[in-house]
Amino acid sequence: MFLYEQCFCAVGHYYENFDVHKEYGYNDRCPHCDRKAAWVNLVDETSGYPQGIIPISELENYKISSQVIQKCNLGQLHVIQVALYRVPSQQETIPLRQYYP
Ligand SMILES: [Zn+2]
Repeated sequence: MFLYEQCFCAVGHYYENFDVHKEYGYNDRCPHCDRKAAWVNLVDETSGYPQGIIPISELENYKISSQVIQKCNLGQLHVIQVALYRVPSQQETIPLRQYYP
């Protein structure tokens, strides 16, 4: 895995897409709601460093609501609401990308 995408769907769910080489039929759809990606940031790890990555700590600034986890009667934890983010604009995205020497 040398290239992958950080994605937001139009609703504002965050996910990562590792099938950027289209080996298994390119699928950038959100695993939470099946909508197409509305925002994609490509991360290149071929040099050993995640070039272009936007750290989750930076994306936290765009969070609208946190994920909600509930314990069921069997004592297991379930995510009942996925965290929501405001999708960054292209202008906001560029300075967030991290590069390594
Ligand atoms: Zn979604």
